[in-house]
Amino acid sequence: MQIFRSAARVLFPDCRCLVCGEPRDIHSGDALCGSCAHSLAGHAIPTYACPLCLSPMRTGEPCHYCVSGGMNGLVSAHAPFYYGGAVQRLIVLCKFGPVEIAANPLAAAMTDCLGTARPDALVPVPLHHERLRERGFNQAALLCDLVSLGTGVPVLHALTRIRKTRRQSSLPPEAREDNVRDAFDAVAPVTGMRLMLVDDVRTTGSTVRACAKTLMAAGAMEVRLLTAAVAPQRNLPKGE
Ligand SMILES: [Zn+2]
Ligand SMILES: [Zn+2]
Repeated sequence: MQIFRSAARVLFPDCRCLVCGEPRDIHSGDALCGSCAHSLAGHAIPTYACPLCLSPMRTGEPCHYCVSGGMNGLVSAHAPFYYGGAVQRLIVLCKFGPVEIAANPLAAAMTDCLGTARPDALVPVPLHHERLRERGFNQAALLCDLVSLGTGVPVLHALTRIRKTRRQSSLPPEAREDNVRDAFDAVAPVTGMRLMLVDDVRTTGSTVRACAKTLMAAGAMEVRLLTAAVAPQRNLPKGE
């Protein structure tokens, strides 16, 4: 991990903005220059999004998808940003960095987004152990640890992947539900707990619904979701 961190520091010295590479207008140790911090704010999810899944809406009323039970096992989803631009760049860096400095502005926004809500524990969406070995770390766990530091809510590694799944991003939306079916197992006691799943980005939500189902079957009282970003579902086929 130390080697990765040193390499990351050479590739992304802390005097340059992580998004645009601009060397000026940045305080040492900050992830973003003023202009990119501003563009990050441009991706903020507005208050009139669907209150359950955060899909873009005009009214703030639950969307058709949620009314018809699409969230399925998740009480609500929380995220500070829509996916794209500077948000996308930071999320990609979190995944392939590893660049903790890229995770900081995302985790800070996720912490703000929780407001005063205090679940019993934060549960990172796990990687399969082989993928964890390849990558060296789990970006969801990294964000989870930082949100825990900001909120005081403990991290509970309650889930494990029992089956290696194909990368969701490599599959069409309609194949994603099948890809993650029965892929998770609960490995910590969660009976009666109010849990907040944590991941980097939610696209169709198939992965997190499978996680929520596993946690509810293990006795959790409720499961909500916190991600750094949401990819709007409006372009996805009906039912996803
Ligand atoms: Zn910048
Ligand atoms: Zn919705």
